[in-house]
Amino acid sequence: MDLLNTLVDKGLRRELPTRDEALAVLATSDDELLDVVAAAGKVRRKWFGRRVKLNYLVNLKSGLCPEDCSYCSQRLGSEAGILKYTWLKPDQASEAAAAGLAGGAKRVCLVASGRGPTDRDVDRVSDTIRAIKDGNEGVEVCACLGLLSDGQAERLREAGADAYNHNLNTSEATYGDITTTHTYADRVDTVRKAHSAGLSACSGLIAGMGESDEDLVDVVHALRELDPDSVPVNFLIPFEGTPLAKEWNLTPQRCLRILAMVRFVCPDVEVRIAGGREVHLRTMQPLALHLANSIFLGDYLTSEGQAGRADLEMIADAGFEVEGAGEVTLPRHRVADGAAGVCGAHAPEGGGCGSHEGGGCGTHAGAGCGSHEGGGATPCGSGPGAGERPAEARTDLVAVRRRGAGTDLAPNA
Ligand code: SF4
Repeated sequence: MDLLNTLVDKGLRRELPTRDEALAVLATSDDELLDVVAAAGKVRRKWFGRRVKLNYLVNLKSGLCPEDCSYCSQRLGSEAGILKYTWLKPDQASEAAAAGLAGGAKRVCLVASGRGPTDRDVDRVSDTIRAIKDGNEGVEVCACLGLLSDGQAERLREAGADAYNHNLNTSEATYGDITTTHTYADRVDTVRKAHSAGLSACSGLIAGMGESDEDLVDVVHALRELDPDSVPVNFLIPFEGTPLAKEWNLTPQRCLRILAMVRFVCPDVEVRIAGGREVHLRTMQPLALHLANSIFLGDYLTSEGQAGRADLEMIADAGFEVEGAGEVTLPRHRVADGAAGVCGAHAPEGGGCGSHEGGGCGTHAGAGCGSHEGGGATPCGSGPGAGERPAEARTDLVAVRRRGAGTDLAPNA
Protein backbone atom coordinates (compact mmCIF):
# COMPACT_ATOMS: atom_id res chain seq x y z
CA MET A 1 0.00 0.00 0.00
CA ASP A 2 1.30 3.43 -0.88
CA LEU A 3 -0.15 4.73 2.39
CA LEU A 4 1.91 2.34 4.50
CA ASN A 5 5.12 2.93 2.53
CA THR A 6 4.64 6.66 3.03
CA LEU A 7 3.99 6.26 6.74
CA VAL A 8 7.02 4.03 7.27
CA ASP A 9 9.24 6.55 5.47
CA LYS A 10 7.85 9.37 7.57
CA GLY A 11 8.19 7.38 10.80
CA LEU A 12 11.83 6.58 10.11
CA ARG A 13 12.45 10.30 9.50
CA ARG A 14 10.29 11.44 12.47
CA GLU A 15 8.10 13.34 10.06
CA LEU A 16 4.50 14.06 11.05
CA PRO A 17 1.82 12.19 9.08
CA THR A 18 -1.07 14.28 7.81
CA ARG A 19 -4.47 14.03 9.49
CA ASP A 20 -5.80 12.21 6.43
CA GLU A 21 -3.00 9.65 6.60
CA ALA A 22 -3.67 9.03 10.29
CA LEU A 23 -7.39 8.69 9.61
CA ALA A 24 -6.66 6.25 6.79
CA VAL A 25 -4.83 3.94 9.22
CA LEU A 26 -7.94 3.78 11.39
CA ALA A 27 -10.07 3.03 8.31
CA THR A 28 -8.03 0.07 7.05
CA SER A 29 -9.82 -3.26 6.63
CA ASP A 30 -9.20 -6.49 8.52
CA ASP A 31 -7.59 -7.85 5.34
CA GLU A 32 -5.01 -5.07 5.58
CA LEU A 33 -4.43 -5.30 9.32
CA LEU A 34 -1.31 -7.46 9.34
CA ASP A 35 0.27 -5.16 6.74
CA VAL A 36 -0.51 -2.19 9.01
CA VAL A 37 1.08 -3.94 12.01
CA ALA A 38 4.14 -4.90 9.97
CA ALA A 39 4.60 -1.35 8.72
CA ALA A 40 4.25 0.30 12.13
CA GLY A 41 6.47 -2.47 13.52
CA LYS A 42 9.31 -1.27 11.28
CA VAL A 43 9.06 2.17 12.86
CA ARG A 44 8.90 0.67 16.36
CA ARG A 45 12.03 -1.44 15.73
CA LYS A 46 13.93 1.50 14.25
CA TRP A 47 13.65 3.50 17.48
CA PHE A 48 13.24 0.82 20.17
CA GLY A 49 14.47 -2.46 18.75
CA ARG A 50 12.71 -5.44 20.28
CA ARG A 51 12.83 -4.08 23.81
CA VAL A 52 9.74 -3.88 26.02
CA LYS A 53 9.85 -1.57 29.00
CA LEU A 54 7.95 -2.71 32.07
CA ASN A 55 6.28 -0.22 34.39
CA TYR A 56 4.67 -0.88 37.72
CA LEU A 57 1.71 0.97 39.19
CA VAL A 58 1.37 1.76 42.86
CA ASN A 59 -1.98 3.31 43.73
CA LEU A 60 -1.07 5.58 46.65
CA LYS A 61 -4.64 6.71 47.31
CA SER A 62 -7.66 4.98 45.84
CA GLY A 63 -11.18 6.24 45.18
CA LEU A 64 -12.93 9.11 46.97
CA CYS A 65 -12.18 11.60 44.19
CA PRO A 66 -14.22 14.82 43.93
CA GLU A 67 -13.78 15.02 40.14
CA ASP A 68 -16.33 13.57 37.72
CA CYS A 69 -14.27 11.96 34.94
CA SER A 70 -16.87 9.64 33.44
CA TYR A 71 -14.44 6.88 32.57
CA CYS A 72 -13.05 6.57 36.05
CA SER A 73 -14.04 4.06 38.72
CA GLN A 74 -12.71 6.45 41.39
CA ARG A 75 -14.89 9.39 40.33
CA LEU A 76 -17.39 11.33 42.35
CA GLY A 77 -20.51 9.17 42.66
CA SER A 78 -18.86 6.01 41.31
CA GLU A 79 -20.73 2.89 42.37
CA ALA A 80 -17.93 0.58 41.28
CA GLY A 81 -16.93 -1.69 44.12
CA ILE A 82 -13.27 -0.72 44.08
CA LEU A 83 -10.79 -0.56 46.94
CA LYS A 84 -10.98 2.78 48.73
CA TYR A 85 -8.16 3.96 50.95
CA THR A 86 -6.22 7.07 51.77
CA TRP A 87 -2.49 7.73 51.39
CA LEU A 88 -0.15 4.75 51.71
CA LYS A 89 2.81 5.43 53.96
CA PRO A 90 6.25 5.62 52.30
CA ASP A 91 7.28 2.18 53.57
CA GLN A 92 4.01 0.62 52.34
CA ALA A 93 4.44 2.18 48.91
CA SER A 94 8.07 1.17 48.82
CA GLU A 95 7.14 -2.42 49.63
CA ALA A 96 4.60 -2.50 46.81
CA ALA A 97 7.11 -0.95 44.40
CA ALA A 98 9.73 -3.55 45.35
CA ALA A 99 7.44 -6.33 44.15
CA GLY A 100 7.15 -4.74 40.72
CA LEU A 101 10.88 -4.10 40.48
CA ALA A 102 11.61 -7.71 41.45
CA GLY A 103 9.29 -8.76 38.63
CA GLY A 104 11.33 -6.85 36.05
CA ALA A 105 9.86 -3.34 36.06
CA LYS A 106 12.30 -0.46 35.68
CA ARG A 107 9.80 2.34 36.34
CA VAL A 108 7.46 2.78 39.28
CA CYS A 109 4.39 4.94 38.70
CA LEU A 110 3.05 6.51 41.87
CA VAL A 111 -0.58 7.47 41.36
CA ALA A 112 -3.07 9.16 43.64
CA SER A 113 -6.71 9.93 43.03
CA GLY A 114 -7.87 13.51 43.35
CA ARG A 115 -8.03 16.78 41.46
CA GLY A 116 -4.45 17.58 42.33
CA PRO A 117 -2.05 17.47 45.27
CA THR A 118 -1.91 19.89 48.18
CA ASP A 119 1.55 21.02 49.24
CA ARG A 120 1.26 18.54 52.12
CA ASP A 121 0.53 15.80 49.57
CA VAL A 122 3.64 16.77 47.64
CA ASP A 123 5.60 16.37 50.90
CA ARG A 124 4.15 12.89 51.40
CA VAL A 125 4.90 11.82 47.85
CA SER A 126 8.40 13.30 48.08
CA ASP A 127 9.07 11.13 51.14
CA THR A 128 7.77 8.12 49.21
CA ILE A 129 9.96 8.89 46.21
CA ARG A 130 13.02 9.12 48.44
CA ALA A 131 12.13 5.85 50.17
CA ILE A 132 11.84 4.05 46.82
CA LYS A 133 14.99 5.59 45.38
CA ASP A 134 17.03 4.89 48.51
CA GLY A 135 16.24 1.20 48.33
CA ASN A 136 16.47 0.68 44.57
CA GLU A 137 19.39 2.11 42.69
CA GLY A 138 18.58 3.21 39.15
CA VAL A 139 14.81 2.94 39.49
CA GLU A 140 12.79 5.49 37.55
CA VAL A 141 9.91 7.10 39.42
CA CYS A 142 6.96 8.76 37.74
CA ALA A 143 4.37 10.67 39.76
CA CYS A 144 0.76 10.98 38.72
CA LEU A 145 -1.10 13.18 41.16
CA GLY A 146 -3.48 15.19 39.02
CA LEU A 147 -3.37 18.90 38.22
CA LEU A 148 -0.24 20.65 39.48
CA SER A 149 -0.03 24.11 41.02
CA ASP A 150 2.94 26.41 40.49
CA GLY A 151 6.13 25.08 42.02
CA GLN A 152 4.90 21.55 42.71
CA ALA A 153 6.59 19.98 39.68
CA GLU A 154 9.88 21.53 40.75
CA ARG A 155 9.47 20.11 44.26
CA LEU A 156 8.79 16.63 42.92
CA ARG A 157 11.84 16.90 40.68
CA GLU A 158 13.98 17.94 43.65
CA ALA A 159 12.69 14.93 45.59
CA GLY A 160 13.99 12.68 42.82
CA ALA A 161 10.99 12.16 40.53
CA ASP A 162 12.05 11.43 36.98
CA ALA A 163 8.73 11.89 35.26
CA TYR A 164 5.19 13.15 35.63
CA ASN A 165 2.11 11.65 34.03
CA HIS A 166 -1.04 13.51 33.14
CA ASN A 167 -3.12 12.35 30.19
CA LEU A 168 -5.03 14.47 27.72
CA ASN A 169 -7.40 11.50 27.33
CA THR A 170 -9.46 12.74 24.41
CA SER A 171 -9.75 15.56 21.92
CA GLU A 172 -10.23 19.13 23.03
CA ALA A 173 -13.58 19.21 21.20
CA THR A 174 -15.06 16.36 23.23
CA TYR A 175 -13.30 16.89 26.55
CA GLY A 176 -16.33 18.61 28.07
CA ASP A 177 -18.41 15.50 27.34
CA ILE A 178 -16.31 13.28 29.59
CA THR A 179 -15.46 15.64 32.45
CA THR A 180 -17.01 18.85 33.73
CA THR A 181 -14.94 19.56 36.84
CA HIS A 182 -11.77 20.52 34.98
CA THR A 183 -10.85 21.37 31.41
CA TYR A 184 -8.64 20.16 28.61
CA ALA A 185 -6.64 23.37 29.03
CA ASP A 186 -6.02 22.49 32.69
CA ARG A 187 -4.53 19.21 31.57
CA VAL A 188 -2.30 20.78 28.94
CA ASP A 189 -1.11 23.26 31.53
CA THR A 190 -0.02 20.49 33.92
CA VAL A 191 1.88 18.62 31.20
CA ARG A 192 3.69 21.86 30.37
CA LYS A 193 4.49 22.51 34.04
CA ALA A 194 6.05 19.05 34.33
CA HIS A 195 8.07 19.60 31.18
CA SER A 196 9.28 23.02 32.33
CA ALA A 197 10.43 21.60 35.66
CA GLY A 198 12.72 19.14 33.88
CA LEU A 199 10.49 16.14 34.45
CA SER A 200 10.03 13.70 31.61
CA ALA A 201 6.47 14.29 30.49
CA CYS A 202 4.13 11.36 30.07
CA SER A 203 0.74 12.01 28.54
CA GLY A 204 -1.65 9.82 26.63
CA LEU A 205 -5.21 9.00 25.78
CA ILE A 206 -8.17 6.74 26.40
CA ALA A 207 -9.81 5.08 23.42
CA GLY A 208 -13.25 3.50 23.43
CA MET A 209 -15.29 6.25 25.06
CA GLY A 210 -17.49 6.68 22.00
CA GLU A 211 -15.14 9.11 20.31
CA SER A 212 -14.84 9.43 16.53
CA ASP A 213 -11.79 8.63 14.46
CA GLU A 214 -11.30 12.39 14.06
CA ASP A 215 -11.19 12.79 17.86
CA LEU A 216 -8.54 10.10 18.16
CA VAL A 217 -6.41 11.67 15.46
CA ASP A 218 -6.87 15.12 17.04
CA VAL A 219 -5.71 14.02 20.48
CA VAL A 220 -2.71 12.12 19.12
CA HIS A 221 -1.66 15.10 17.01
CA ALA A 222 -2.10 17.32 20.09
CA LEU A 223 0.17 14.96 22.01
CA ARG A 224 2.79 15.10 19.30
CA GLU A 225 2.74 18.88 19.61
CA LEU A 226 3.13 18.68 23.41
CA ASP A 227 6.02 16.28 22.82
CA PRO A 228 5.86 13.99 25.86
CA ASP A 229 8.53 11.30 26.16
CA SER A 230 5.89 8.64 26.69
CA VAL A 231 2.35 8.17 25.48
CA PRO A 232 0.16 5.69 27.34
CA VAL A 233 -2.71 4.35 25.28
CA ASN A 234 -5.59 3.25 27.47
CA PHE A 235 -8.52 1.23 26.22
CA LEU A 236 -11.61 2.08 28.24
CA ILE A 237 -12.50 -0.48 30.87
CA PRO A 238 -16.26 0.04 31.12
CA PHE A 239 -16.58 -0.37 34.86
CA GLU A 240 -20.02 -1.23 36.20
CA GLY A 241 -21.07 1.69 38.39
CA THR A 242 -19.63 4.37 36.08
CA PRO A 243 -21.43 6.36 33.37
CA LEU A 244 -19.54 4.54 30.63
CA ALA A 245 -20.37 1.02 31.79
CA LYS A 246 -22.15 0.22 28.53
CA GLU A 247 -19.45 1.57 26.22
CA TRP A 248 -18.07 -1.62 24.76
CA ASN A 249 -16.81 -0.11 21.50
CA LEU A 250 -13.44 -1.77 20.99
CA THR A 251 -12.38 -4.88 19.13
CA PRO A 252 -8.84 -6.26 19.21
CA GLN A 253 -8.48 -5.17 15.58
CA ARG A 254 -9.56 -1.64 16.40
CA CYS A 255 -7.04 -1.49 19.27
CA LEU A 256 -4.24 -2.58 16.92
CA ARG A 257 -5.17 0.12 14.38
CA ILE A 258 -5.20 2.76 17.12
CA LEU A 259 -1.78 1.68 18.40
CA ALA A 260 -0.39 1.69 14.86
CA MET A 261 -1.73 5.20 14.28
CA VAL A 262 -0.15 6.40 17.52
CA ARG A 263 3.17 4.84 16.53
CA PHE A 264 3.13 6.55 13.11
CA VAL A 265 2.26 9.96 14.62
CA CYS A 266 4.67 9.64 17.58
CA PRO A 267 7.34 7.37 16.09
CA ASP A 268 10.20 7.92 18.54
CA VAL A 269 8.36 8.18 21.86
CA GLU A 270 7.64 5.43 24.32
CA VAL A 271 4.21 4.15 23.32
CA ARG A 272 2.76 2.25 26.25
CA ILE A 273 -0.20 -0.09 26.22
CA ALA A 274 -1.94 0.90 29.43
CA GLY A 275 -5.28 0.04 31.04
CA GLY A 276 -7.59 -2.29 29.13
CA ARG A 277 -4.84 -4.31 27.42
CA GLU A 278 -6.12 -7.68 28.54
CA VAL A 279 -9.80 -6.74 28.30
CA HIS A 280 -9.75 -5.47 24.72
CA LEU A 281 -6.70 -6.93 22.96
CA ARG A 282 -7.15 -10.30 24.60
CA THR A 283 -5.30 -13.00 22.60
CA MET A 284 -4.01 -10.33 20.21
CA GLN A 285 -1.77 -8.79 22.91
CA PRO A 286 1.44 -10.22 21.42
CA LEU A 287 0.76 -8.51 18.07
CA ALA A 288 0.46 -5.20 19.90
CA LEU A 289 4.06 -5.57 21.08
CA HIS A 290 5.08 -4.93 17.47
CA LEU A 291 3.57 -1.45 17.87
CA ALA A 292 4.10 -0.42 21.48
CA ASN A 293 7.44 -0.68 23.30
CA SER A 294 6.12 -0.49 26.84
CA ILE A 295 3.45 -2.07 29.06
CA PHE A 296 2.42 -2.21 32.70
CA LEU A 297 3.42 -5.31 34.59
CA GLY A 298 0.71 -6.95 36.67
CA ASP A 299 -2.29 -5.05 38.00
CA TYR A 300 -3.69 -1.61 37.28
CA LEU A 301 -4.97 0.99 39.72
CA THR A 302 -8.37 -0.43 40.49
CA SER A 303 -8.57 -3.50 38.25
CA GLU A 304 -6.52 -6.65 37.95
CA GLY A 305 -4.30 -7.42 35.01
CA GLN A 306 -3.10 -10.84 33.95
CA ALA A 307 -0.46 -12.48 36.12
CA GLY A 308 2.92 -10.77 35.98
CA ARG A 309 4.45 -14.10 34.96
CA ALA A 310 2.06 -14.25 31.99
CA ASP A 311 3.23 -10.77 30.90
CA LEU A 312 6.84 -11.97 30.93
CA GLU A 313 6.03 -15.19 29.08
CA MET A 314 4.09 -13.29 26.44
CA ILE A 315 7.03 -10.97 25.80
CA ALA A 316 9.46 -13.88 25.46
CA ASP A 317 7.12 -15.99 23.32
CA ALA A 318 6.54 -13.09 20.93
CA GLY A 319 10.31 -12.74 20.42
CA PHE A 320 10.78 -9.55 22.42
CA GLU A 321 12.99 -8.88 25.43
CA VAL A 322 12.41 -7.02 28.68
CA GLU A 323 14.36 -3.77 28.76
CA GLY A 324 17.06 -3.92 31.41
CA ALA A 325 17.70 -1.37 34.13
CA GLY A 326 20.93 -0.29 32.44
CA GLU A 327 19.34 0.34 29.04
CA VAL A 328 18.02 3.72 28.05
CA THR A 329 14.49 3.70 26.74
CA LEU A 330 14.42 6.66 24.41
CA PRO A 331 16.44 7.09 21.21
CA ARG A 332 19.65 9.05 21.61
CA HIS A 333 18.38 12.19 19.88
CA ARG A 334 15.52 12.61 22.38
CA VAL A 335 17.90 12.51 25.29
CA ALA A 336 20.38 14.79 23.58
CA ASP A 337 17.58 17.20 22.76
CA GLY A 338 17.66 17.88 26.36
CA ALA A 339 15.41 19.30 28.87
CA ALA A 340 12.64 16.92 29.32
CA GLY A 341 14.20 13.63 28.55
CA VAL A 342 15.99 13.80 31.79
CA CYS A 343 15.35 10.38 32.92
CA GLY A 344 17.47 8.75 30.41
CA ALA A 345 20.14 11.26 30.46
CA HIS A 346 22.31 9.44 32.93
CA ALA A 347 22.58 6.45 30.67
CA PRO A 348 25.59 5.99 28.48
CA GLU A 349 23.73 5.82 25.23
CA GLY A 350 20.36 6.10 24.00
CA GLY A 351 17.34 6.95 25.65
CA GLY A 352 15.71 8.34 28.72
CA CYS A 353 13.13 6.78 30.71
CA GLY A 354 10.76 6.98 27.98
CA SER A 355 8.44 7.77 30.44
CA HIS A 356 5.19 7.88 30.63
CA GLU A 357 1.80 6.40 31.06
CA GLY A 358 -1.36 6.18 30.38
CA GLY A 359 -3.00 7.93 32.75
CA GLY A 360 -1.27 9.27 35.67
CA CYS A 361 -3.75 10.27 36.99
CA GLY A 362 -3.10 9.68 33.37
CA THR A 363 -5.12 7.34 34.59
CA HIS A 364 -6.43 10.21 35.84
CA ALA A 365 -7.50 9.96 32.52
CA GLY A 366 -8.63 6.72 31.81
CA ALA A 367 -5.62 5.03 32.65
CA GLY A 368 -3.78 6.99 35.02
CA CYS A 369 -0.57 6.88 35.26
CA GLY A 370 -1.25 6.13 32.16
CA SER A 371 -3.44 3.86 33.74
CA HIS A 372 -6.37 5.36 35.34
CA GLU A 373 -8.69 2.84 34.13
CA GLY A 374 -11.15 4.25 31.80
CA GLY A 375 -14.73 4.93 32.01
CA GLY A 376 -16.37 7.61 30.25
CA ALA A 377 -18.94 10.07 29.61
CA THR A 378 -21.37 10.95 27.10
CA PRO A 379 -20.30 9.02 24.16
CA CYS A 380 -19.96 11.26 21.25
CA GLY A 381 -20.01 9.15 18.42
CA SER A 382 -18.63 6.59 16.39
CA GLY A 383 -17.56 3.35 17.99
CA PRO A 384 -16.43 0.76 15.51
CA GLY A 385 -15.34 2.06 12.13
CA ALA A 386 -17.06 1.42 8.84
CA GLY A 387 -17.29 -2.26 8.09
CA GLU A 388 -16.00 -3.27 11.52
CA ARG A 389 -17.59 -6.01 13.52
CA PRO A 390 -19.43 -4.76 16.58
CA ALA A 391 -17.46 -5.11 19.77
CA GLU A 392 -18.43 -7.70 22.32
CA ALA A 393 -19.07 -6.83 25.96
CA ARG A 394 -16.54 -8.80 28.02
CA THR A 395 -17.59 -7.98 31.55
CA ASP A 396 -16.19 -11.37 32.53
CA LEU A 397 -12.70 -9.96 31.95
CA VAL A 398 -13.10 -6.97 34.27
CA ALA A 399 -11.98 -7.81 37.80
CA VAL A 400 -11.74 -5.25 40.56
CA ARG A 401 -8.29 -5.25 42.14
CA ARG A 402 -8.35 -7.01 45.52
CA ARG A 403 -4.62 -7.54 46.10
CA GLY A 404 -1.46 -5.51 46.43
CA ALA A 405 -1.38 -1.89 47.62
CA GLY A 406 -4.07 -1.11 50.17
CA THR A 407 -4.69 -4.79 51.01
CA ASP A 408 -3.01 -7.49 53.09
CA LEU A 409 -2.51 -9.68 50.01
CA ALA A 410 0.66 -9.93 47.96
CA PRO A 411 0.79 -7.80 44.80
CA ASN A 412 0.65 -9.28 41.32
CA ALA A 413 4.02 -8.71 39.76
S1 SF4 B 1 -9.34 10.31 36.55
FE1 SF4 B 1 -8.26 11.15 38.36
S2 SF4 B 1 -9.24 13.19 38.64
FE2 SF4 B 1 -10.61 12.02 37.29
S3 SF4 B 1 -12.12 11.07 38.68
FE3 SF4 B 1 -10.45 9.56 38.36
S4 SF4 B 1 -9.04 9.87 40.09
FE4 SF4 B 1 -10.37 11.70 39.93
